[in-house]
Amino acid sequence: MIDLRSDTVTKPTEAMRKAAYNAEVGDDVYVEDPTVNRLEELAAEKLGKEAALFVTSGTQGNQIAVLTHCKPSDEVIMESNAHVFLYEGAAMSALAGIQPRTIAGVRGAMNPEDVKAAIRPEDVHFPETGLICLENTHNKAGGAILPLENMEAIAKIAREHNIPVHLDGARLFNASVASGIPIHKFAEQTDTVQFCLSKGLGAPVGSILAGPKEFIDRARKWRKRLGGGLRQVGIVAAPGIIALNDMVDRLAEDHDHAKKLADSFANIDGIEIEGQVETNILLVNVKGLGVTSEEFIEKLKGEGILTVAFGPYTVRFVTNYDVTEDDIDTVINNVRKLV
Ligand SMILES: *Cc1c(COP(=O)(O)O)cnc(C)c1O
Repeated sequence: MIDLRSDTVTKPTEAMRKAAYNAEVGDDVYVEDPTVNRLEELAAEKLGKEAALFVTSGTQGNQIAVLTHCKPSDEVIMESNAHVFLYEGAAMSALAGIQPRTIAGVRGAMNPEDVKAAIRPEDVHFPETGLICLENTHNKAGGAILPLENMEAIAKIAREHNIPVHLDGARLFNASVASGIPIHKFAEQTDTVQFCLSKGLGAPVGSILAGPKEFIDRARKWRKRLGGGLRQVGIVAAPGIIALNDMVDRLAEDHDHAKKLADSFANIDGIEIEGQVETNILLVNVKGLGVTSEEFIEKLKGEGILTVAFGPYTVRFVTNYDVTEDDIDTVINNVRKLV
């Protein structure tokens, strides 16, 4: 099977498995796991943040951020197709007691003026705006890179209104590698950042939440409350260190593979590339073939290629570490054949 459903499907590398085996461990609830501590220091340093916290998943990292930034009844501003809005089981409402306020963006980017207009003035009727959430790269927009200038403009408005900004940077390293902009430049725009070790970077488990030390101390307590205080977790943090040290630059290969797919598909009648391919995600519209995404996906599956539906006619392909250049050629040939 050639698995293009997501970059979460990658298996840990040999080096990651060895690092897990050899990891020095301790009780992380006592902040005594040397491997976790090393991972958190390394992640904070890469992002240019004071401190970082190893969390079980991207969802947990985002939700801990909301819980730590906000109080129940606050409103959180986010883009209409944000992962935190679409794909986290309404955790913000269920756990943090907040109300989402969505703003439609263009390729995942909210217009700063719209954000400004959505900030609540003081009024007895209104909730208080407790947080602005950004997402980079934007998953639903097909791995679109949120432009640095857009982040800067929104961050400036947020500062003027004394509202914190959280970045759901599940694939922030993809944005950095593809744009050539150092990761800390993106990270410095927002108060807190979450990124996934377990997507393109290939680690088996985990995400990082980073921000000011005082914030991370409070976030650690929320992680404990959510049952995310783990013990000898250096076993899974060790692959994360390898992900950060050795797996970042190679994301460029995934981006090249996605572009290669897009360029080939663009020449096939009836297939349309949605938007543009900036990183490792490719959205393909199959309406012109007279089939639904589900039907197309079933056909692909018959050829040993796995993808997911991202709309009634939209199929998502995500390139990843376990998909080789040869696999990409196989996918192209099979799609041509199927059409
Ligand atoms: C995958 C993803 C998450 C959540 O990460 P999990 O580890 O799957 O919980 C959050 N935000 C974005 C943009 C994602 O793509």
